[in-house]
Amino acid sequence: MKKVVSFLLVFILSFSVALGIDYIPAEAANNGKYVIVIDPGHGGTGDRNLGAQYNGFSEKELTLQLANVLKAELDKYDNVTVYLTRTKDEVMTLEQRAEFAKNVGADFVFSIHFNASPENNLYGSEVWTSAFGTYYQKGQTFGRLELAELGTLGLYQKDVKTRIGATGKDYYGIIRHCVDRALPCVIIEHCYLDHGYDVQFMKQAGFVEKLAQCDATAIAKYFKLKSSQTGVDYSNISYFNVKKPKGTVYQDTTEPDVCSIKTLAYDPASRNVLVEMTTRDSQSPVIYFSYSYDGGKTFSILQMWDRTKETQSFNIKIPASVVSSKIICRAYNSYELFRQSNEVAIETR
Ligand SMILES: [Zn+2]
Repeated sequence: MKKVVSFLLVFILSFSVALGIDYIPAEAANNGKYVIVIDPGHGGTGDRNLGAQYNGFSEKELTLQLANVLKAELDKYDNVTVYLTRTKDEVMTLEQRAEFAKNVGADFVFSIHFNASPENNLYGSEVWTSAFGTYYQKGQTFGRLELAELGTLGLYQKDVKTRIGATGKDYYGIIRHCVDRALPCVIIEHCYLDHGYDVQFMKQAGFVEKLAQCDATAIAKYFKLKSSQTGVDYSNISYFNVKKPKGTVYQDTTEPDVCSIKTLAYDPASRNVLVEMTTRDSQSPVIYFSYSYDGGKTFSILQMWDRTKETQSFNIKIPASVVSSKIICRAYNSYELFRQSNEVAIETR
């Protein structure tokens, strides 16, 4: 039976390749060369544009450090010209960065960032892309390659997202100013500087270099580059072809559609409650969940939700001090909006 299944899988996979899900970037190389612009986010002290500052990390310094390694990695490939929007710690407006990219004839702008959240509760990698047409298509296609690479380091893959601002254009300035100049652009938020799960990686020696290598690999795959210097060759690689959207791809502004729980078992010896949760969101994936055993007074840190399943079960350990426990769970979509579940009472006596 297993053999049949794996044979079927191989068959389906080869069939997909044969169908031409393969995607060739529309921006054909200029004179046989791709012009790649790397934008190290933030910078300078004049306008206090420092970016996230946590746990001894400074976003404006990390972005420049990463960008320098990324340029060196990309320079190893044939037929690319790589520019940085800034090479030192200086103030530069988002419009100046986009204008620079326009002037050098950029095929794509990759804006390098590190993240932080208001409640310091989020972790993982995310990519922001334009909400419009081929800019969306290119950004979403690249973003999936990028998150897959970062996932190999152990970082949690959040999502590739869009955000429209009040004016009806892309919310994020660097993306908006690039699209105004007909340049595809993504913001790569590598990981959070204010959450322990990501900080454990960031504290490893050489981790920023590893992030840069992931970026270089994703970019090289996207443009199907090869390197005579290293022998790496992505010229025949296939990857998922994101379709050009018909209209604007709006952000998800609503919480998940469903979040319900039931308890399957309680083990007095371990004080573990086995909880089954069902959640779904028709607009963006559910990526985190949290739980409370005190009726919602306190919640656990965000847990990873396996987005391939709508129903999952997990154990919640009730502390010895809690006799009448009330279990409540929350499901978070990739825009970090949550729906709270029903409450289930457990007597632990
Ligand atoms: Zn930033």
